[in-house]
Amino acid sequence: MSDRLLPWLIPAIITVTVLPASSQVTMPLTVTVSPDRAVLGDTLAIVVNASEQPTVEVAGKALPVFSIGPQQWRAFVATTPLQTPGRRSLVVRAGNETRNMLLWVGDRAFPVQRIWLPAGKDTSGTDFEFDRVAAFKALVTPEKLWQGAFRRPNSGPVTTPYGVRRYYDGVFAKDYFHRGLDYAGAKGSPVVAAQRGRVALVGRESQGFLIHGNTVGIDHGQGVLTIYLHLDQIRVQEGQMFEAGQVIGTVGNTGASTGPHLHWGLYVNGECVDPRSWLAQGWQ
Ligand SMILES: [Zn+2]
Repeated sequence: MSDRLLPWLIPAIITVTVLPASSQVTMPLTVTVSPDRAVLGDTLAIVVNASEQPTVEVAGKALPVFSIGPQQWRAFVATTPLQTPGRRSLVVRAGNETRNMLLWVGDRAFPVQRIWLPAGKDTSGTDFEFDRVAAFKALVTPEKLWQGAFRRPNSGPVTTPYGVRRYYDGVFAKDYFHRGLDYAGAKGSPVVAAQRGRVALVGRESQGFLIHGNTVGIDHGQGVLTIYLHLDQIRVQEGQMFEAGQVIGTVGNTGASTGPHLHWGLYVNGECVDPRSWLAQGWQ
């Protein structure tokens, strides 16, 4: 892969410092943010060129920063429908240089569903499954395993998009949004790895995955993860490496599912983001 940004990564803000003659061997600290018009749900990339490892803080919170080339690093900013649109402070430090900047994340209207729950149906799941899934979502491993764009994990049509908000029995669920895409593939149709990565989670309905159903989670490295729910068959084991497009299981109706479909989620630094930019062109 080229170390240079691809042409679609239009720099939003570039800050360049002219160094005094005495320190010309040091690369000046430059920061590039893309995309330049992010909205809630998008992933923003903060690419830093510097002569030493930088730190990146957004809204006062330090983000994981990884090397992506000679004297070049990157941090991802994950945004979700639950966040407040608008400005966020961005502070990048390397050596004795600091850049103070602002990020802008625009608002976005997400579709709304109204759900009436059947009386007496248990939708609480098990601590076992929620603990395992939470541990998976917290993974941030340093090696970048993916290469280029992500691919759709099933050929079925998308029936529920990312970010849908819900009312349950007429009450707005303020912490709920649809954390992924639903693909209405036929039962038994193949589910493929969206990108190269290592299987970091295998959960089975028979072991207590009552909500998620048969589940596979793939770690793509550098805080990027994908998860595949409600599978029928699982054809992987934890620890296995998979290439993009390899079959990891089949579409099913396991767990809290009302018909065969694949629920597919993409997580960055523990937050569920809209996969659309990852599917369209990915990140270098
Ligand atoms: Zn879903």
